[in-house]
Amino acid sequence: MDRRSFIKKAGLAGAGAAAASTLAAPAIAQGGKELVIVSTWPRDFPGLGTSAQRLAASITELSEGRLNTQYFAAGERVGAFDVFDEVASGNSQAYIGADYYWVGKHPSFAYFTSVPFGMTTPEWNAWLKFGGGMDLWDELSGSFGLKAVPCGSTGTQAGGWFNKEINSPDDLKGLKMRIPGLGGTVLSKLGASTVSLPGGQIYENLVSGAIEATEWVGPWNDYFMKFYEAAKYYYTGGMHEPGGGLAFGMNASWWGSLTDWEKAVVTAACHKEHADSHEEAMANNGAYLKKLVNEHGVQIRAFSDDVWDAFGDASAEVFEETRQHSPLAAKIDDAFQASLRDIGGFMSKFEVTFTNQRNRVLGL
Ligand code: CA
Repeated sequence: MDRRSFIKKAGLAGAGAAAASTLAAPAIAQGGKELVIVSTWPRDFPGLGTSAQRLAASITELSEGRLNTQYFAAGERVGAFDVFDEVASGNSQAYIGADYYWVGKHPSFAYFTSVPFGMTTPEWNAWLKFGGGMDLWDELSGSFGLKAVPCGSTGTQAGGWFNKEINSPDDLKGLKMRIPGLGGTVLSKLGASTVSLPGGQIYENLVSGAIEATEWVGPWNDYFMKFYEAAKYYYTGGMHEPGGGLAFGMNASWWGSLTDWEKAVVTAACHKEHADSHEEAMANNGAYLKKLVNEHGVQIRAFSDDVWDAFGDASAEVFEETRQHSPLAAKIDDAFQASLRDIGGFMSKFEVTFTNQRNRVLGL
């Protein structure tokens, strides 16, 4: 879909949905418990938005209507970055988004999306479900009156889009880049000027020159964003989001009011979408990377070891500062880093050893 018509359509759909929901709400509420979901993604946003809409429909379907979802894309009820307060206050029951958008509330939210030099999606899933990570997420979210469940994953994200080549750490100095979370803090330490813009506002800022570089997700998601119109250099796997995980963040009191069966339905729907979204991205990324190169002349690049080393040094400083925030921040970092070395160390010896050798032999 052409991006401009998509934006126009999203705007119209937004207005229509808001009006319709106002009229239809009493009728919908009669059928089951009200579950108003507010999202950080624009309506029909390819990849992340479509995944969130699929999750909302899935909760209604799996609960046989006993949980009636009303889904509001970014800007239809509240702005993308207002969903946290909207749900914590109880105005809406749940948000869908990336929890690292809330590092201003508490820096440890970053660990529940992705952090620099952190876990890939399989590693993160293992930590959350069987390595104690979920208990820490509950403790952190609970302190803000929220309860989160993982509900989407992008896999390893691209290093980003740049309007010039990044050949050394010096090339990052003064660079105006959109990059949220602790990855943004790392880039700031290396002299970049970073911002955290919602997905729906990146393109216009890149085209206008307000920013010179941006990260988003990976080839499949990024293809539809048309960043190549302003930035031709696309960097392979970056340090900042090795496994971007998304959150279904619920008002904790509302979550507590659900029956065990309703909680199981919500959790099952979220876990299914968590797996589906990752598999969907994995299935599409390779083909869309080729399309970016062949259809739009995108230049693929990889960061040099010098740049990676600079990222590593800056990341170590960022983690040290994050730990200073509070005892909970130190506890989460301790647990995360220990599990990363345990789970990631094993992955390195087995899965990574195999894939490196397979790719060498097959010439991938
Ligand atoms: Ca990203």
